[in-house]
Formats: sequence, structure tokens, C-alpha cells
Amino acid sequence: MKSEIERLLLKVQKPGRYTGGELNEVIKDKKDIDVRFAFCFPDIYEVGMSHLGIKILYSLFNEVPYIWCERVFAPWTDMEELMLKNDIPLFALESGDYITDFDFIGFTLQYELSYTTMLNMLKLAKIPLKSKDRHDLRQIVVAGGPCACNPEPVADFVDIFFIGEGEEVDLEVIELYRECRKEGLTRDEFLRKASQIKGVYVPALYDINYNDDGTVREIIPKHCAPEKIEKRIMMDLDNTYFPDKFIVPMIEIIHDRAVSEIFRGCIRGCRFCQAGFMNRPVREKSIDTINDQCRKICDSTGYDEISLSSLSSSDYTRIQPLLDKMLSWTEKEKVSISLPSLRVDGFSDELVSKIKTVRKSGLTFAPEAGSQRMRNVINKNVFEDELLQTCTKAFSGGWNKVKLYFMIGLPTETYDDVAAIAELGQKVVNAYYSCPDKPKGQPVTVTLSTASFVPKPFTPFQWEPQDTRDELMKKQYHLKDSVTSRKINYNYHDSKTSFLEAVFARGDRKLCKVMEKACKYGMRFDSWEECFDFDKWMSLFEECGIDPAFYANRRRSFDEVLPWDHIDYGVNKKFLIEECKRAYKAETTPNCREKCSGCGAAKYKGGVCYEKHKS
Ligand code: SF4
Repeated sequence: MKSEIERLLLKVQKPGRYTGGELNEVIKDKKDIDVRFAFCFPDIYEVGMSHLGIKILYSLFNEVPYIWCERVFAPWTDMEELMLKNDIPLFALESGDYITDFDFIGFTLQYELSYTTMLNMLKLAKIPLKSKDRHDLRQIVVAGGPCACNPEPVADFVDIFFIGEGEEVDLEVIELYRECRKEGLTRDEFLRKASQIKGVYVPALYDINYNDDGTVREIIPKHCAPEKIEKRIMMDLDNTYFPDKFIVPMIEIIHDRAVSEIFRGCIRGCRFCQAGFMNRPVREKSIDTINDQCRKICDSTGYDEISLSSLSSSDYTRIQPLLDKMLSWTEKEKVSISLPSLRVDGFSDELVSKIKTVRKSGLTFAPEAGSQRMRNVINKNVFEDELLQTCTKAFSGGWNKVKLYFMIGLPTETYDDVAAIAELGQKVVNAYYSCPDKPKGQPVTVTLSTASFVPKPFTPFQWEPQDTRDELMKKQYHLKDSVTSRKINYNYHDSKTSFLEAVFARGDRKLCKVMEKACKYGMRFDSWEECFDFDKWMSLFEECGIDPAFYANRRRSFDEVLPWDHIDYGVNKKFLIEECKRAYKAETTPNCREKCSGCGAAKYKGGVCYEKHKS
């Protein structure tokens, strides 16, 4: 580490965020390296180090002898202040080198409110913000992750977006870069060649024209860039790279444990859920693969907790045999298994007993809506009876805390639907008291938590307006007033951040000028309450002559050209329109294992689309 950086560490809250040197970090000799990749997470160390994607790609890149991938996290405000004062640019953890020296500066964009942090990191690195202001064949800014599905609000700043899963496409682009540099090609020549790789989107190669009302008229590819950018997808997860080792942090992070994805995608089709549509079709890993991966990670890290991650753990078709296989060694070695994202209807007696063997913390479920009508609108396919039965089972099994997640502001929602959330909470409380084997001595606590609905691209609700902030606040108060029991806690997320998320999620390229100004004015860490300044954002929109309600609160017609129409995640628009119309009629659609609804993802020729369906 450079001595000038070391000197600052004594003055910051958590020096461990900036030192590197953890178990399993990768150090290479620079003289053997052709390509240096700075893997940047636009949030602090504790958040970034908890993210599975960075663990996978860090190890994958470093398996290649000529690449050295290093980690870079956003310095928290105390460190940032010192870096600015002492004129120290952004640096990578492994070498301590400034990231100006790197060939690739790669960001993962997990949430829209990290956009300004990405720009702030470029600013701290002293790298020109805009793609057009970077000229040599170096400092290639790339980005991937869920927000790459509509990258337009940050299109001016990023050279390449990776669409879909990154395991193959990233390496193909790095290899192309290495060849182009050997041949002495220019940056533009490299970017044009890269645009020919499936899953690569080079925004500079597309012109966007607008109608007088501000909507997109057309998206025109240039220099032979493809009209549609198709996502990359790994169809065989058993043969998809997964690391044997994770870096073990020296300070406490949010999720500090072994993780294995048990499958990608989701069979359900909840109509608000972007991940559920973008990651179609469902592809499972085999029991042996999951078991081996977990074992290796535990051996190389010493972790005593494993999380089996997915969008809906109980939908793994062989969840019981998987747990049996894993429990055969985890019990002996005192390793606990957690199953996040359990569905209400996936909570079987057997599963309860197996999770109980290892873990008894609070239970969380996400019914998402209080009334059955509303759950049908969003295609949640969960019934009140199932929730009550599940809670009763859990209470009999010794639990006495249940947390239920809901959304408010969903399409077609009425005030009765909102009040139904409180009624459902009350029924769960009643279920506890009518349960003969409830835990003795401790009262039940039911926590109702609501988030504001944010319409997202590539979902059936991508055309829907978000409720105005006034309307959302009225609904929050209505729900608060509808809760009458002291056994029920109600908490809600502030709708200000949801509003901004809605603006960015469906924004177009015109928002780039707002982003640029936001960066100039020092805005970053928008998902952190202590840094988020809603009023500043509103005056910024005004200064730029942009009405944020145009993006957040406007209903789009089905024939409007959407800013992300040139990107293809496999689910076709016709299917999404049909799903939206079914939502208006509160009609549900069966899940992929019951019946295929022909969403378009079967073109990837694998996964659930080729399983035998029930009907
Ligand atoms: S094609 Fe059918 S089975 Fe495959 S993801 Fe779409 S709806 Fe599900």
C-alpha cells in the first residue's frame, strides 16, 4: 500500500475498508500481466463484499494468467474527504495502485440509486466522466448487473454494458481488447468490434431520436451495431464457473458467509418482479454441484454458515434431498444452513424441521399484497389460508416473530386493498393465539413492512405509472390507522427514494445531463439516508429542465417506443402486454412448472421450458 494512503487510515472510521490483505485475495506480479481490471462496486466495502457476483467474477478473471482483477469500493464520506484534501485518487485494494492505471474499470449496477456513486468513483479516480472524452485504448469503462437492462440514464458515461450473465462475455471482451491492443487499433475500433459480441451494448453506437412530447421516436444503430442486443445466459449451471474460495473480510460485512446459488431464474412470474422475468428460464444446479461448492467454500474460508441463494428457495425441485445431503456433514461440522426467500406455500413440515435443526431466527415472508384480488393482480399465487397455515406451523415449531413484506401503490390498488394488509396481520396474530403449541411465555410479534411499488423495465407493469408521493403517503397513513393491535408493528420505506428509483429505472438518455450535474454537485450514496438529499434532486431536475414525473408517474401506451426496446432479455413484449391485461382483470397465470405460457424464453433451449409440465 502506498504510504500516502496508509497515513490517512488512522483518521478514518473503519480502516479495514481500505487495506486489502484479507485471506484469499489475489496478488499477482505486474510484469506477468497484460490486462488490469478494476472491479468497482459503487457502494461501501461492507455492501460490495457481500455481493455474490463480484466474488464469482473476481475469481474467474484471476484464473486467467494474463489478467489481474482487483477490487475497488466507494470510499465512505470520511475517507473521501481526506482523499480529496490530500489529492489522492481512487485506488484498488490489492495493489494500492490508482485506477487511472487500469485497462478496464468495471462496475456492477445492482440498484438505480448507485448511479451517482459510480460517477463519483470515476471523478475520484480522475477519469473523464463521459465516454466521448476518453480517447486512448485504456480506461475502458464497462458495467453489468440488473440495471444494465435499461442503461440509458448512464449511457453517456459507460463504454460497454454487458447484457445478461457475465461469465463468458466479460472474458471474450477482455480477450478482444488484448488482441486489439496488440494490433495497435484505436479505442473506437475496439468498441465497434466489441459491439459484434453477443450480449455487448455499446451505447455510443446508437442514436436516439425523440418525439415532440419527449418520448423516444427511434433508436438507430450505427457502424453495423446490432439492432437488438441479446442477453447472454449460462444454460448449464453445473458447468458454469464457480469459485472454490471467497475472500474472507477482516471487518464485519452485511452477509459474511458461504453462498451457493441453487438455481437462476424463477418459475413464478410475479408481475412486478424484474429479476423474475429477466432471468428466465429457470435453470437448476444439481445437488452434487451445490454440495461440493458449499463444502469447498467452507473448507477454504472457515465459514460456519451457508446460504442457499435463489429468487425463491423452496422452488428448487429437490430441496429435501439437497438439505439431507448437506446436513450429513454440516450437522457434524456445526455449519448452519439458511434458506432465504422462502415462499409462504413452500414451507412444508419437513422443511420446517430441517431449518429448525440449524436455525431459529425470525421468519420472513413476502405475501406482497393484503387482499386476494390484489395478489391475483400481481400474480403472486399465494392464498391467505396458506399464509395462516404456514404461520401456525412455524408457531408450533417454536417461532414467535413473523415479518411480512408488502408493496403499496400497485396497479389497480384501492384503499380497501391497503387496509387488507392490516387485516392480514391481525389474522396472523389470531393464528398464534389459537395455536395449541405456541411458544410459552413470549408474546407474538408480527411486523408489517411496506415498500412503494416501482414499475420496472421488462415486467408486465413496465407501462404503469407510479403513484404520486402524496398518494403513497396517504396509503401509508391509511395502513397505519388500520392497524389496531399492539402485537403488530408497521414500518415503511420513505417514498422519496422510490420516486427517484422510478425515474431512473425507466429513464432515457436525456437523464445523463442530470446525472452529470449531480456528480458535479457532489451527490452520491443516494441509497444512504445520511447522504440522500431529495430537495437537491428536485432542484437539479428543475435546473436541467426535466420533469421527473414524466418518467415516474406517466402511463405509457403499449405502442410507445420504450428507451430499452433495443435490448432483448428473451421474454417478448407481446407476452408482457398480455400479462398486463390479465393483471387488470385480476387473472392469474400458472407458473412455468404447471404450464408454459409461451413467454419467449424457450428460445434458449433449456431449463424449465424443456421439463415436463403438470398440465
Ligand atoms: S417459455 Fe414457458 S416454461 Fe419457459 S420460461 Fe417462458 S413461460 Fe416459463
